[in-house]
Amino acid sequence: MRRVLILLTGGTLMMRPTGATARGSSALGLEDRTRDLVAALPMLTSIAEIETRELFAMDSGDMQPADWLRLARHVHAAISERTHDGIVIVHGTDTMSYTASALALLLGELPIPVVLTGAQRPLFEPRTDARENLIDAVLVATMDVPEVSVVFASRALRGVRSTKRDAWDYDAFDAPNCPPLVTLGVGATLAPHVRRAGELAPFDERIEERVLAVRVFPGLDAELVRAASGRGVKGLVLEAYGTGNLPRSLISALEHVHASGVPMMIVSQCLRGFVELGRYAGGAAAEAAGAISGGDMTAEAAIAKLMIGLGRYGPTDALKDYLLRDIIGERA
Ligand code: ASP
Repeated sequence: MRRVLILLTGGTLMMRPTGATARGSSALGLEDRTRDLVAALPMLTSIAEIETRELFAMDSGDMQPADWLRLARHVHAAISERTHDGIVIVHGTDTMSYTASALALLLGELPIPVVLTGAQRPLFEPRTDARENLIDAVLVATMDVPEVSVVFASRALRGVRSTKRDAWDYDAFDAPNCPPLVTLGVGATLAPHVRRAGELAPFDERIEERVLAVRVFPGLDAELVRAASGRGVKGLVLEAYGTGNLPRSLISALEHVHASGVPMMIVSQCLRGFVELGRYAGGAAAEAAGAISGGDMTAEAAIAKLMIGLGRYGPTDALKDYLLRDIIGERA
């Protein structure tokens, strides 16, 4: 039987009621949490031999890059020990796609599956989605899916392509530019684009947290963008319109940011499709001002990649090459 390590980090799946909210529904918290998943869901042991470790217990809304590193370090060590065939990470849904993106880029090629999952309703509730998600996650962790994935609502998505798209529906995640890796219906169908197993590289912890992401909108004050470079911002992600278009009133601010040595990457506000900076005058001017195309990356992946790239290469040509290259399936 395959051996699966479950790492608990918190999130709604583990939560229990802590009191009443102002609107009368019960508030959820992690003070009195569900830790023993096997006791709560004994059938997990019919899929794999399970070992569970609680790494931390956080609402994922509080997670920071230091927590990604703690988690990534633990996953790296567990893979290196070769004691398990797959790893499941129980995580809050709010920042699951950020963590999944960071883990994929921090860890690189993987010999075994690393699966993130969580739930919109806690495991102890009768109408929970936690049971199905946990069972599917443990199953995917036993399959030939050696990448960081997000398992939710009967699908395994490429983690570095995923995004939380729904706050209320059980089908909460999407990977808009990458078909599911596994579709879990009556059977479990593996897609042909699942990555091949690779050797784990030595762990590289370098990361630069001082990255700012700005959504472009009509009325965005160019002076605020210009001021960012004097306030310690080391990298800028601009969420632009459509194929990477933005108001030309921002261009001189972008030139200033670029001249101050702050790399800028442009992703799209649209869920599907990709950035092509030359398509319209605004995007072309941004490119001439030094902006780098994020292609079809999600904003989550772009932010994590800029942090990790800056940590590893600083604001250099090597960083530009890293950002434009597909590292682990995050961009076409
Ligand atoms: N606030 C929770 C979290 O992200 C939401 C969830 O898990 O669904 O930790």
